[in-house]
Amino acid sequence: MKHAVVIVGAGPTGLMLAGELALAGVDVAIVERRVNQELVGSRAGGLHARTLEILDQRGIVDRFLAEGQRAQVAAFAQVPLSIVDFPTRHNYGLGLWQNHIERILAGWVEELRVPILRGREVTGFAQGDGGVEITLAGGEALGAAYLVGCDGGRSLIRKTAGIGFPGWDPTTSSLIAEVEMTTEPEFGIRTDARGTHALGREKYEIRDGKVVYATEGPVRVMITEPQVKYGTEPTLEDLREGLIAAYGTDYGMHRLAWITRFTDMTRQAESYRDRRVLLAGDAAHIHAPDGGQGLNTGVQDAVNLGWKLAQVVKGISPESLLDTYHAERHPVGARVLRSTMAAVALRRADERTKAAREAMAELLAMDEPRRRFAGMMSGLDIRYDLGEGHPLLGRRMPDLDIVTSEGPRRAYELLHDARPLLLDLGGLGDFDVAPWADRVRAVRATYEAAWELPVIGAVSRPTAVLIRPDGYVAWVGEGTTGGIADALGRWFGAAVLPESPSPRP
Ligand SMILES: Cc1cc2nc3c(=O)[nH]c(=O)nc-3n(C[C@H](O)[C@H](O)[C@H](O)COP(=O)(O)OP(=O)(O)OC[C@H]3O[C@@H](n4cnc5c(N)ncnc54)[C@H](O)[C@@H]3O)c2cc1C
Repeated sequence: MKHAVVIVGAGPTGLMLAGELALAGVDVAIVERRVNQELVGSRAGGLHARTLEILDQRGIVDRFLAEGQRAQVAAFAQVPLSIVDFPTRHNYGLGLWQNHIERILAGWVEELRVPILRGREVTGFAQGDGGVEITLAGGEALGAAYLVGCDGGRSLIRKTAGIGFPGWDPTTSSLIAEVEMTTEPEFGIRTDARGTHALGREKYEIRDGKVVYATEGPVRVMITEPQVKYGTEPTLEDLREGLIAAYGTDYGMHRLAWITRFTDMTRQAESYRDRRVLLAGDAAHIHAPDGGQGLNTGVQDAVNLGWKLAQVVKGISPESLLDTYHAERHPVGARVLRSTMAAVALRRADERTKAAREAMAELLAMDEPRRRFAGMMSGLDIRYDLGEGHPLLGRRMPDLDIVTSEGPRRAYELLHDARPLLLDLGGLGDFDVAPWADRVRAVRATYEAAWELPVIGAVSRPTAVLIRPDGYVAWVGEGTTGGIADALGRWFGAAVLPESPSPRP
């Protein structure tokens, strides 16, 4: 069996990528070793604003909003950073456990008819000029033109490709677990000389910005371990030891539902691509969970890669378009690594670190630093280096309320099918988009209100914008159409001249 693209891993990254490829009409399949989408353990707790915008661009954000809790979730070094004044429809984050995020994404991918080979483990692959031969446990083989490793931090695809994963070993380790407790514990977060610990219930509501836990049900424990441990499976005894060290009691814990360990190991793939093999999500970067960045970064990797890979597979663009994936997403990942390392360093409980944290909190109480860090943590400030120009260039397109010939529309509605969009706001004149019309949708629209970007503020009004399927701006018109043909060719393939009429007999 041969597919255009095989994705290894049906975690959030693999599912998002599969959806993007399916929207572009690419024959894609996922291989996943889990037998179903159920997830043991809690892992990610929610979505940041930019991820919500991305889901909105595909018309599926309401599915997540209906199940989650909206809240100001952005924070750095334990300082909450409100984004309530940011110019976005989603000026908040969403509390929603990863198992629900995955279930909703899997439902979408199923609607798009992507086959998921569940309960199947990839054990190796070999790539040649013509494609990739993938081996599954049991000896079965699968062919693909491209293989994407979305197979998590211990990625077999990354290791088999021989892609280095440099970085730093853990300085701290924590256990998370779900248990029953005989004695009602003290819920909330506690910090001591060892680090941060937290007790809560799986079910909660956010009321007036405060977490209110359900009155019954199992307890979720997060404990910083007295000694750094990694590479071994955590045990009930490890948890008991950690609880007693932090709280002086184990609260009569019993009936362990699950337990996992996470650390602040920080590593990044030195390349996100080796010829026909690409990496995305945790397979490409791992770091501490501080700031809730991992899942969000992986989903955004997928949206950056999806349309590019689709165009290469369909022969619209040369393979070199795939190099822009590494060029754009590696720096974003590197920044996440840096900020999480800083956050971990600032979470230590000694007096000097406490003083550094207080100094940071003082800084973040000022408006400009607050906006900058909130822009970073929410993902709303991401800019891909597409050269000099208008501040919109390389940044996210805002979800403007525009008026088209078909009536009022939101800009993001025009991105639901993940096609490039050329928005003519009165400045395209007689520029002829016909040579790209099979790939790029051109829409005339008016927009009278001010243009404002998160962190940056007001910007001058463009007269046209070329928007990539991932929602980032590839070209900005400022009264002229200079450079537009180059941008269209660079991102969406060569001009295809309409066939000249055949000569009359
Ligand atoms: C305690 C904790 C809290 C976190 N909190 C947050 C948060 O609040 N916000 C946030 O954004 N992130 C958070 N994260 C990070 C987040 O969980 C990960 O970044 C995210 O799961 C990465 O998604 P992924 O799809 O790249 O990889 P994964 O979720 O690891 O998925 C990889 C998939 O590949 C499959 N697989 C692996 N190898 C093979 C193989 N050989 N063959 C077939 N299938 C294979 C696996 O079964 C798995 O389904 C947290 C993580 C932890 C541990």
